[in-house]
Amino acid sequence: MQKAAIIDGKAIAAGLRREVAAGVERLKAARGVAPGLAVVLVGEDPASQVYVRTKAQATREAGMLSFEHRLPASTGEAELLALIGRLNASAEVHGILVQLPLPKQIDATRVIEAIDPAKDVDGFHPVNVGRLATGARGIAPCTPAGCLVLAKSVRPSLEGMEAVVIGRSNIVGKPMAQLLLAESCTVTVAHSKTRDLPAVVRRADLVVAAAGRAEMVKATWIKPGAIVIDVGIQRVAGPDGRSRLVGDVAFAEVAEVAGALTPVPGGVGPMTVACLIRNTLAAAQSAAGAGA
Ligand code: NDP
Repeated sequence: MQKAAIIDGKAIAAGLRREVAAGVERLKAARGVAPGLAVVLVGEDPASQVYVRTKAQATREAGMLSFEHRLPASTGEAELLALIGRLNASAEVHGILVQLPLPKQIDATRVIEAIDPAKDVDGFHPVNVGRLATGARGIAPCTPAGCLVLAKSVRPSLEGMEAVVIGRSNIVGKPMAQLLLAESCTVTVAHSKTRDLPAVVRRADLVVAAAGRAEMVKATWIKPGAIVIDVGIQRVAGPDGRSRLVGDVAFAEVAEVAGALTPVPGGVGPMTVACLIRNTLAAAQSAAGAGA
């Protein structure tokens, strides 16, 4: 029997997007500034095209300006860096997002480092990574920031909780750990070399699963009542042969043990986009000297 409360990421993201839209209106009224987000896509990767379309639509719906730059897969690094330079200099652009992955002739690290940290709404620039690590005010990556909002929708204070993050990528696992540390959780970061992962996860009051392994986290791994945030998204073949989206968590069985759980889809995914436009508004407010 399902015990867990299902955390409705779609509804929470819709609420956050409305808050951002209200903030955009206030900024326009007070300073005459419309926040602008530039999204850069190099190549024709189908998943990236969907992400870019979704991000641009959310930007416009929040009352912001959306600038889309679609470049061919053959684009060279110098050409992309020149575009970043123009976007850095543009007064209309407050946020710059370069959709990853980039084609192999382009060094993604060099591109990320070329973005003005004040416009780095993905929070991937080393300056923002460093600010997050040192507890200074900066821009936090969107997916872990969204996970934090979801966890706090269940428990507004996470202080003192045992948190286990599965995954140590630069875009999810590591920044998630920093955000949870800043919330005064006791944080363990697990990865592919972790010994006895089920035993590590069983310690957790809060689990963030970001390994990219379909339905890896089982009910027996979960402390009864724990909050479980599922970042993973995988397309797998269902019993009827049709494909379906699943997360890193075996949803049906974990829902019998956890206290609260995010679904896939409809959990973390919508929060990533909502946090992106929140970061863009914050960048525009800072540029306009308007504060948050
Ligand atoms: P990466 O592949 O970059 O990182 C995966 C991490 O998980 C690595 O640190 C890896 O360890 C660890 N890992 C892999 N297998 C295991 C295992 N069996 N046991 C323990 N740890 C393991 O992925 P991302 O961080 O980019 O993404 C993770 C997942 O989240 C993916 O499914 C992705 O699609 C999804 N995602 C969803 C988003 C959303 O908006 N909902 C946004 C971003 C990602 P090691 O370092 O040792 O290799």
